[in-house]
Amino acid sequence: MEIKKELLPDSKLKSLPDPENLGFGIHFSDHMFLMDFTEGKGWHSPRITPYQDFTLDPAAVTLHYGQAIFEGLKAYRCKDGNIRLFRAMDNMKRMNRSAWRMCMPQINEEELLNAIKELVRIEQRWVPEGMGTSLYIRPFMIATEAFLGVRPAKEYLLSVILSPVGAYYAEGFNPVKIFVTDKFVRAARGGVGEAKTAGNYAASLMASEEAKKLGFTQVLWLDAAERRYIEEVGTMNIFFVLGDTLVTPALSGSILPGITRDSVLKLAKEWGIPTEERAITIDEVMKAAASGELKECFGSGTAAVISPVGSLYYKGKDYPINGGETGELAHRLFNELTAMQYGEKEDPFGWVETL
Ligand SMILES: *Cc1c(COP(=O)(O)O)cnc(C)c1O
Repeated sequence: MEIKKELLPDSKLKSLPDPENLGFGIHFSDHMFLMDFTEGKGWHSPRITPYQDFTLDPAAVTLHYGQAIFEGLKAYRCKDGNIRLFRAMDNMKRMNRSAWRMCMPQINEEELLNAIKELVRIEQRWVPEGMGTSLYIRPFMIATEAFLGVRPAKEYLLSVILSPVGAYYAEGFNPVKIFVTDKFVRAARGGVGEAKTAGNYAASLMASEEAKKLGFTQVLWLDAAERRYIEEVGTMNIFFVLGDTLVTPALSGSILPGITRDSVLKLAKEWGIPTEERAITIDEVMKAAASGELKECFGSGTAAVISPVGSLYYKGKDYPINGGETGELAHRLFNELTAMQYGEKEDPFGWVETL
């Protein structure tokens, strides 16, 4: 794939944001990647251009029927000066699974990853220095065909934008308070919960706004049919340490198959910790919290890596976990994963690649 490049002269480049106050998804780099799909022709016109507005026909399918998918990964600036990616090929593969589910065209995984690497190389001054900071990479695909009938579109746009992001835990781990909702659901089996598609996030806003108003950080989702089985939390997968076993809900079709989730399971196995992927009811967790069998609870995702849960609130009652403190395993997993990502520790899994 030959990528056409239209790059800004140095004099037109943005000034970099304050590295101490990056936040998440606020600042965007100077350039972006674009590529078009037309039925019969396939993907074409790959290009890197200045970061700029799109023009879209008001009838573009993505605006009306939500054919839109995305991915999220990071480039890490390491102490040796190199920039590293973590399991990036897994993000490409998941993008294709999301595309398949939303009747969108498949991409060539290697070619897209190469395009991302090329873009990050061009934008390397945007990869911030400092432990915990990174350059967030957001590939996404939208249906651009102007057509109001309901069928898969015949034209698409794929783009990659970059955003320097701050350390999630600037002041150390901060266990979150979780609201277990039995009023709203995120996704039902047979639906699109396992795809990283735009509508899932729109569907989740109401519950998280309600939870925030009540002073909680995130929502824990239960299954849509019975509201008994635990699914995931906010935009993270969820783990419980029950006795000495690490337990997480099995991928049932309504849960997003997190790459961090998979890394946590593989690391725990490597460390000889018993792991289980199975159905877990909220009642089982509440009982284990009351009896003290529930030792730890944490979320996993690219943004926070590991997010310790300090308490669960369910049906009017607050259940503290590990005295509201970060558990030992959550700490160990966070340290191990970040050490690998920042090239400070040997990676026996082949997860990390240097740009
Ligand atoms: C992206 C995402 C996750 C976490 O996936 P990672 O690959 O670990 O970043 C979990 N749940 C939802 C709903 C997500 O969108």
